[in-house]
Amino acid sequence: MQNWPLLISKLIDHAAQNHGTREIVSRTPEGPLVRSNWRTVATRSRQLAQWLVGKGISPGDRIGTLASNTHRHLETWFGIAGAGAIVNTVNPRLFDEQITYIINHAHDRVLFFDSTFLPIVEKIAEHLSVDHYIVLTDAQNMPESSLPLLCYEDILSSVDGDFTWVAVGEDDPVGLCYTSGTTGAPKGVLYSHRSNVLQSWSVCMPDGFAIAARSVVMPVVPMFHANAWSLPYACAMAGAKLVLAGPANDAASLQALMIDEGVTVTAAVPTIWLGMLRHLDATGGGLGQLNRVVIGGSAAPASMIERFERDFAVTVIHAWGMTETSPLGSFGTLCPEVEKMPYPAQLDYKAKQGRAPFGVELKVTLNGDGAPVPRDGRTSGHLLIRGPWIIDRYFGANTDTIDAEGWFDTGDIAMIDPFGYMQITDRAKDVIKSGGEWISSIDLENVAVGCPGVAEAAVIGVPHSKWDERPLLIVVRQPGAAVTKPDILAYLSGRIAKWWMPNEVVFVDAMPHSATGKILKVALREQFNGFRFPDDLSTITPST
Ligand code: ADP
Repeated sequence: MQNWPLLISKLIDHAAQNHGTREIVSRTPEGPLVRSNWRTVATRSRQLAQWLVGKGISPGDRIGTLASNTHRHLETWFGIAGAGAIVNTVNPRLFDEQITYIINHAHDRVLFFDSTFLPIVEKIAEHLSVDHYIVLTDAQNMPESSLPLLCYEDILSSVDGDFTWVAVGEDDPVGLCYTSGTTGAPKGVLYSHRSNVLQSWSVCMPDGFAIAARSVVMPVVPMFHANAWSLPYACAMAGAKLVLAGPANDAASLQALMIDEGVTVTAAVPTIWLGMLRHLDATGGGLGQLNRVVIGGSAAPASMIERFERDFAVTVIHAWGMTETSPLGSFGTLCPEVEKMPYPAQLDYKAKQGRAPFGVELKVTLNGDGAPVPRDGRTSGHLLIRGPWIIDRYFGANTDTIDAEGWFDTGDIAMIDPFGYMQITDRAKDVIKSGGEWISSIDLENVAVGCPGVAEAAVIGVPHSKWDERPLLIVVRQPGAAVTKPDILAYLSGRIAKWWMPNEVVFVDAMPHSATGKILKVALREQFNGFRFPDDLSTITPST
């Protein structure tokens, strides 16, 4: 058979040729909605690639983007790939120092950014050595700046589009995304054409997110982090309509766009869906044509899954992954054995993180190496992963980050059941060790958010003189709710093992969130540093 390389340029050529008129609808940061299609995106990506090559960009050069989900950001992905270069998506929600670190570490030669992110760029520019700053906008909306800015639409119209994609191999790099660096400096993960194409294939599969030409997909997950869960590539592969919401992530705008554009599939972290459900409760609104919602990035609580499925007839697909896994490592679609079960039992499976698609191997070991523990749904340990879209070495590192057999240690603690469903119980660094046994903070959190009146819940381990560590439950109430500690403990009772019962419940006005919308356990641990349980007062030294 032929050696037909799996290239990102093949994806966009395919979309243009076979699904050319399928719409790409995009909310620009300036406000207006722009209607494009795969053919136009392909034409403009080609112009961009031509311009980049004209400016001396060579295969392997890195090019940064600091941008929300828009058609122009989409074109940079395909244009940069078509120039043989590497798109380094940078998360604008990171601190300025982290953004600076990433752009410099990657040696980004060009930076594309939304006009709304100009203040960030202006603040950090003196620390960067970028050749060209390009604002992803048109001439009318070009901002004033002391920086030598170029206008995206101007650079596109400066070339004729007569250009052949730069020849690269499928193993050549095409994407670079840095981990959010909550512990230490951000680390770069380099994706290849092949790894991105293969992951997109699995996303399109029926037991992935089932993306088809008839799908209308709105990735709320940002294109600036972890490939937007490969949805833009998967949509090009399937020829799906793509709806890009720009910077507006509030529930009301997302809901309006979803209904107006007939979105059938969407994806985001639980925090976004929490806001959406609250908005729907408050307004009595619906979700239009939506029939599938992908939830991942943090655990999707059973109560959230049930609300989508019961109240809105929207099927939830729970997914797990990380920057190092492109990012998808498992999909929570149901296997036939589970589908035959009554709904409450199905829900237990949907709340797990899902099964490995073809292309991913998972194993759980006691100490991060050695033989796998049994797939009995009870024995937990360190989750390892390998496959063609899993990291081997961080960008710029001298050594691999995998073992001799190719296994990457995810830093997650998990178990796998006999049907192959993997369940994350914790990140290794968040594990609560009580009397020599592990308590799953994720399980506790998932049950606690099901309690009426609870909006968000986080559990951290706090030192305890007798047990080593015990769980502290931190809760944000729903607006107007008066839920109390006894209410919550009564709700937990019978739903969790007795010895998991949090020793204390404290209420806070808001949770600290990471740049990718996860509850920041590190910040919570700092906030509650020195906290002592009422039943452990003996450890407190009386103040003088
Ligand atoms: P970071 O930049 O913080 O590494 P990632 O987006 O790569 O951000 O986060 C990956 C981590 O997020 C996983 O290792 C896991 O702990 C957590 N995670 C992702 N999806 C889920 C999920 N569905 N359930 C529980 N945890 C999840």
